[in-house]
This record gives sequence, C-alpha cells and structure tokens, in this order.
Amino acid sequence: GGSGSAATIKQVKLERESELRIEASNDAPLRLRLLNGTAEIFGTELPPEIWLSFPPRLKFAVFTWYGATIEMDGATETDYTADETPMVSYVNVHAVLDGRRSRAKASSPDDSESSKGPRVIVVGPTDSGKSTLSRMLLSWAAKQGWKPTFVDLDIGQGSITIPGCIAATPIEMPIDPVEGIPLEMPLVYFYGHTTPSNNVELYKVLVKELAGMIERQFTGNAESRASGMVINTMGWIEGVGYDLLLHSIRTFKANVVLVLGQEKLCSMLKDVLKSEPKVDVVKLQRSGGVVSRNAKVRQKARSYRIREYFYGLSNDLSPHSNIANFSDLFVYRVGGGPQAPRSALPIGAEPAADPTRVVPVNINRDLLHLVLAVSFAKEPDEIISSNVAGFIYVTDIDIQRKKITYLAPSAGELPSNRTGQPILLHKTVTRG
Ligand code: ADP
Repeated sequence: GGSGSAATIKQVKLERESELRIEASNDAPLRLRLLNGTAEIFGTELPPEIWLSFPPRLKFAVFTWYGATIEMDGATETDYTADETPMVSYVNVHAVLDGRRSRAKASSPDDSESSKGPRVIVVGPTDSGKSTLSRMLLSWAAKQGWKPTFVDLDIGQGSITIPGCIAATPIEMPIDPVEGIPLEMPLVYFYGHTTPSNNVELYKVLVKELAGMIERQFTGNAESRASGMVINTMGWIEGVGYDLLLHSIRTFKANVVLVLGQEKLCSMLKDVLKSEPKVDVVKLQRSGGVVSRNAKVRQKARSYRIREYFYGLSNDLSPHSNIANFSDLFVYRVGGGPQAPRSALPIGAEPAADPTRVVPVNINRDLLHLVLAVSFAKEPDEIISSNVAGFIYVTDIDIQRKKITYLAPSAGELPSNRTGQPILLHKTVTRG
C-alpha cells in the first residue's frame, strides 16, 4: 500500500452473468477487490473486500453469477466488461461431472469400474481456453469437497511446473487466482523439450508412466478415484498432434472429452471414439475473453515460469547456490545420442537414434545456463520410468577445479542413487 493514488482507483459494476476481462499492465502489479456481491476468478470465489495483488501481465476475468461491484487500483493493458460468456455451459458440465462423482462415491469400492469418477480431458487448439476451463472445473469440484487430480500434458505452457514436463497434482482447494496451482509435491516427468515432435516416442512413454502412476495411486485412494481427473492437453491437434491426443485419451482412459471451439476436431474424435461406448465427446464454445499469444509471448511466458520456479512469483524466494564436484553428479540425456554404426545395420537402412535411450553426458561448459532435472532414479535404467524431484540451474562450470555451481529452489541434499550420487537429466528448456 501507500503507492496507489486515488486517481488510479476505479469501480466497476457487473450485472449478473457478466465478467470483467483484465490484462494487468506489463510493468506493474494490479490491485483489485470485491466491494459487494459475489464474484469468482476462473472458478475461485473472491473474498469480500480484501485487496488482492495481481502480477504484471496476468490475463484473467472476474465473473459474477448474481452481480458484483469490483474496485481496481492501478493501470491495466486492457479492461472491459463482457456479458456474453460460455460460463453457463461450463458450469452445466461441472454439474454433470459432480453427479458422476457422487455416483462413484456411493458405489462399492470393490467395483473398480463404477467407483471410478469422471476422467475429463480438455482438447482444442492453442489459445482456446483449455487451461482456463480445466482450472474452473477443478476449482468448482474442490469447492464441493472433491479432490480431483489435475493432469497437465502441455509441455509448452503447463501450469503445474516448469515447461518441458508433464505433471499431475491433487487439487484440494479452489485454485488461488494469484498463486495458481500449488507447487507442493506434484508428480513430474521430465521430457526436456517444449514441443513433442522432438521425440514423439518419449512423450508417449512418459504419458504412459504418468497415467500408470496415477492409476496405482487411485487403487489405494477411493476419494481420489471418485473425484476423477481433469486433463489439460497441448494445442497441437493436427497430424502427429492428433495421434498424441488420441494416445492420451486412451492411456488415461478418459471418459469425457471436452472439445473447445473446433467443429472438425470434435467430429473427428466423435467418429473414432464412437466404438468406445463409454466416452462422451462434448463440444463447448470458446470464450471471447481468451487472449491469443504469439510464439514470442509464449517463449517469454516459459522463461518467466522458470524464473518463478527459482525466485517465486513476485521475486519473494531466494534460491540456494550450491557447489558440487563433477564426480558428485551423473548427468544423462534421453534420446538421440550416438547412433548405431551403418555397418551394423541391414543394407539400405538409415541409422536411427533410439528415442528412449539413456546417454551419459560429460560435464563441461555446454551445461552452463541449462536447467537440469533431478531424477528420483537410482540407476540409469530407471530414468525413463522415474519422476523428478525438481530442477537445478547451472550458473558456473569450473573446468580446472572440476566444480559445478548451481541454483536450487531450496537447500539440502539432492536425491541420490545407490552410490550416493544424484542423477541429473540434461536438456534444455532454455538458455540464459
Ligand atoms: P489454452 O490453454 O487453450 O492455450 P488458456 O486457457 O491458457 O488457453 O488461455 C489463454 C490466455 O487467455 C490465458 O492467459 C488466460 O488467462 C486468458 N483468458 C482465458 N479466458 C479469459 C477470459 N474470459 N478473460 C480474460 N482472459 C482470459
């Protein structure tokens, strides 16, 4: 407080079923509070009268079912009111899912099929509002006491952890409109690129690992099983992207497919999934509030996301700088790597790199300014099937003294293998 002058404060009165769409300014946070009525941000209710501070560049909407007055303090890139939204259709989907969760909860836990809650997968092109719809469905479910599992398969713009990963986490409370998904102990698998075409096979293998792990957790947890999943996907829906969507739908045994604003995709999915009778494919309207982001904006968002991992949303965390000997760490890369020599191949065959091959990497200056994942694997052959504990950022490589300096979000030992050395996975979300 204290910095906002009275001149920047404004009040906005929202009629029922309308929303205030806001893009916070590029260089200053925006303060906002609910003066009267009720309102929510992407499914999470605003507390009355308490000022909330939104970081620069955040794009969001304050929606009201019955009417509200909002007070804003600070500059915005844009803010406008819209009374046409698809919110009624979204909340209707929620109501159907809620009914299915109740039925799952009421049935005998020994019946593994009927005690299974809805598994919703949200698909559509980039910037169709997939993450936002996922978030609303999760927050509405959590508000009613369910603990749905959020699965984010979007390696480019995921909301659970840094880019280059697929991840899952239980949602036990409506998602905080400022902080986003809680970062405590998500289940994370490291893919290492921000587009799946770099290694399609590895992407599929990791999706399978993640699905298998959640399935095992559900076996011992009737509450989570009945609450089900909400799965967010990538915006790549053509060609290989489409195949990957189908692969994800089947691997997670999704039974509700929500298609955002794409007739063609919807009818294609309806067609191929009609032989799988328990899958409902539902087309939903895209919200006019969804903001399109070009490649540059997306790249920037990825860098911010990595920064946020180490430094916190508002620069409120201080990462720990640590020094290790080269010999204290093992670094591996997945895929690519040395190829089979031509002489070992059938005549005419091209040497191809094994997409899931684990290759040791020498520690040298090539690792400088890279983000490395810290694997829970105890042996190299467990790397593909192991989730990761977190990430480090390499800030210095001293070849002479054979020492590596890195940032980690917290102090303490990295998880280590059987001989005591941590296994790190190499690649490459960003440089510098
Ligand atoms: P996708 O996951 O399909 O790429 P997102 O859900 O991430 O799309 O939406 C893109 C951007 O638009 C996000 O920054 C999101 O916060 C914003 N957004 C979504 N819906 C609205 C809305 N109704 N009003 C304002 N901004 C919105």
